[in-house]
Amino acid sequence: MPLVNAKEMLTKAKAGHYAVGQFNINNLEWTKAILLTAQEMNSPVILGVSEGAGKYMCGYNTVVGMVEGMLETLNITVPVALHLDHGSYEGAKACIEAGFSSIMFDGSHYPIDENIAKTKELVAICEEKGLSIEAEVGSIGGEEDGVVGAGECADPDECKMIADLGVTMLAAGIGNIHGKYPENWAGLSFETLAAVQEKTGTMPLVLHGGTGIPAEMIKKAISLGVSKINVNTECQLAFQEATRKYIEEGKDLQGKGFDPRKLLAPGTEAIKATVREKIELFGSANKA
Ligand SMILES: [Zn+2]
Repeated sequence: MPLVNAKEMLTKAKAGHYAVGQFNINNLEWTKAILLTAQEMNSPVILGVSEGAGKYMCGYNTVVGMVEGMLETLNITVPVALHLDHGSYEGAKACIEAGFSSIMFDGSHYPIDENIAKTKELVAICEEKGLSIEAEVGSIGGEEDGVVGAGECADPDECKMIADLGVTMLAAGIGNIHGKYPENWAGLSFETLAAVQEKTGTMPLVLHGGTGIPAEMIKKAISLGVSKINVNTECQLAFQEATRKYIEEGKDLQGKGFDPRKLLAPGTEAIKATVREKIELFGSANKA
């Protein structure tokens, strides 16, 4: 099945009270692990690509080629969206050109008027080309590719203004942050989430920084209108831990253990296990 945009899968998720996972990709192993797991669990899935990861993978054309090739060769039949994560205005345009099926324009660091003007222009392009588009209000804390946010809570009225521009999904800051959560983290602001949901109605809401949020908070967030949850760091940590173990156990020194296909296998399996666990938690298994 060719790439699809994220509109239908998220509309269904919002109505069905579950969330679709966005898993960020970094290379071939990452992409293969996520696609195979989504297929195995019969779940829709969103592949996230940050601008940094896009550069690392030799540009957006390479990413589109790799993903489309896998969809065909691995016989992936579940809905898959290829989504730019935290895109700049220029990055969004480049991904639309390259064949992504979905983009996020992160204009949260602009004054609200400028965020609105730029979002509006991109909404029109995405509508014409059949892509879905995510916008962000209130910066998400932590660091994402050098962009550091404070973890603020979004203004529900500003959320409504952006939602009314015709975006497909909306990321609102509700005290969530990227990366590992600090010991003294205050938790998600369900008050903010409920207020945003009330103002934006059927708009699918996006929760960034899904790594390390306790399962109960995730479930409550889904019940309050979150339909897409972004997971990035957790797959990286799982890959790192499994790879470290392989080398520490000296397996790379045994037989042909140096073969990259063997060396990268435990990390790849660990990504699969993480994705499986998240798909179960988010409730999107068998919703393809
Ligand atoms: Zn994010």
